[in-house]
Amino acid sequence: MIVMKFGGTSVESAEAIERIAKIVARQRKRLPLVVVSAMAKVTDQLVSMGQEAASGDCDAAIELLRAMRERHFQAAKELLGAKRAASLAPRLGSHFAELENLLRGLAAVRELTPRGSDYLLSFGELLSSIIVADAFTLRGLSAAWVDSRECLVTDSSFTRAVPQMAETREHCKKKIAPLIAKKRIPVLGGFIAATCAGIPTTLGRGGSDYSAAIVGAALDADQIEIWTDVEGMMTTDPRLCPGARTIKQISFNEAAELAYFGAKVLHPATLLPAIHKDIPVYVLNSRNLKSTGTEITAHAPPSRDTFRAITAKTGISIVNVVASRGVGVHAFLRSVFETMDRHSASVDIVAISEVSLSFTMESKRLPQALLNDLEQIAEVNCEQNQAIICLVGEDIHGKPGIAASVFNTVAKADVNVRMISQGASEINISFVISEADVPKAVRHLHDHFFPETMDTRAAARANVNGRSRRVRTKASSVVGARISTGRSRFALQTKAAAAVS
Ligand code: ADP
Ligand code: ASP
Ligand code: MG
Repeated sequence: MIVMKFGGTSVESAEAIERIAKIVARQRKRLPLVVVSAMAKVTDQLVSMGQEAASGDCDAAIELLRAMRERHFQAAKELLGAKRAASLAPRLGSHFAELENLLRGLAAVRELTPRGSDYLLSFGELLSSIIVADAFTLRGLSAAWVDSRECLVTDSSFTRAVPQMAETREHCKKKIAPLIAKKRIPVLGGFIAATCAGIPTTLGRGGSDYSAAIVGAALDADQIEIWTDVEGMMTTDPRLCPGARTIKQISFNEAAELAYFGAKVLHPATLLPAIHKDIPVYVLNSRNLKSTGTEITAHAPPSRDTFRAITAKTGISIVNVVASRGVGVHAFLRSVFETMDRHSASVDIVAISEVSLSFTMESKRLPQALLNDLEQIAEVNCEQNQAIICLVGEDIHGKPGIAASVFNTVAKADVNVRMISQGASEINISFVISEADVPKAVRHLHDHFFPETMDTRAAARANVNGRSRRVRTKASSVVGARISTGRSRFALQTKAAAAVS
């Protein structure tokens, strides 16, 4: 049995759904289970609706809802024909009615809680999966729509819920396995789940990849396929660098590192269930039926290039914590880390000197309460609009001169480096720069470490599929980088380990 997950752009329109029906039909013999995202941009639109409603502008929210309803009904009509679409209409209509009630409720209370937000965002995947399942059935695929909220069980950390694997496995075996045994094709909405009490949750933005891996692990799938809008995992984001090329094979460790440090093509937690069960993961292009994409397995052959890929994670803040005079180093570090632990701070890079400590965090996850508590023990300042650039490769281990080559290249791009970390895992070199310098730094690094050849030029042209764009940036200079003790992702790791065990 295999899991095939299709992202938002792969189900964005009737034409796209038509294409994925063909992709699934070719794999019929391998007993596919299909996981779909919401149609492209729908989750963002649900977020906007929720914001409008919670701010009290119910009319604006309902206006957005009408456009969304129109888009879904139109896609259903194109895929199913007027008559069959009319028989699906009451089912879709009841979800839209529920959504409208929710928006009116949010406008009345003027508040959108994390729990309310998960309920709101669940509609995107519910709607797309219902349409996809019916479109498959009409095309001779024996699809069976399955409610993900009855299969994926999570805790109640709304907006970023953690799967409870034992319960999930039990539910999947009960609800999905019998369908597969009868050669039906289960179709589930990704991203959404529920607590054991049945309250809707989500797995975090981009979480449909994670859903696919969770269900794959729960049902011992032979492989997990992530179908998206680019030709696999690439040497960098093709939107940043048109010369990016497909990585044919990559290890779980390298791919996880890339996903964690900003390669949006995979949700960062996706590989954990696959690693746990040693299930190979493929990243493939749903716009190219002949796609061979990227194979992610426990061990991958060494890369010809120094690195496997370069990523950029934007929206980062640097927090500098400077000890007051006379405070001992041990006491200072202990109180800073205890404070971070109290706030479950998911820190990326940490740099320590005798009297100060700097760390980076995603700005949207940096609680003001953490900064307030740190201010009780030290002087604190925070710099926003930063980015982490990460170069990943298992083969950099023990080779001299690589870091020098990275930073010489960044210097040539005239980019200022703020913090540096060579991870404890020794498979990455990461550093922090200003967000505005990202396109320039990535392009220089990519040109240096992945020089173009005639073959790669032709492949890159095929990969880009019109989505890349060049972004202009300001120049700055290389000054005073800090060397760190490595990076810490204790919050993610402990949560994730709990999730898969
Ligand atoms: P989906 O909707 O299919 O889940 P996403 O938008 O979440 O797709 O992820 C695909 C996008 O990830 C690509 O369009 C690409 O711009 C971006 N991306 C970022 N880094 C990489 C990378 N290293 N390789 C491939 N794609 C990447
Ligand atoms: N629809 C959700 C999102 O946009 C989940 C996903 O697409 O993976 O974040
Ligand atoms: Mg995605």
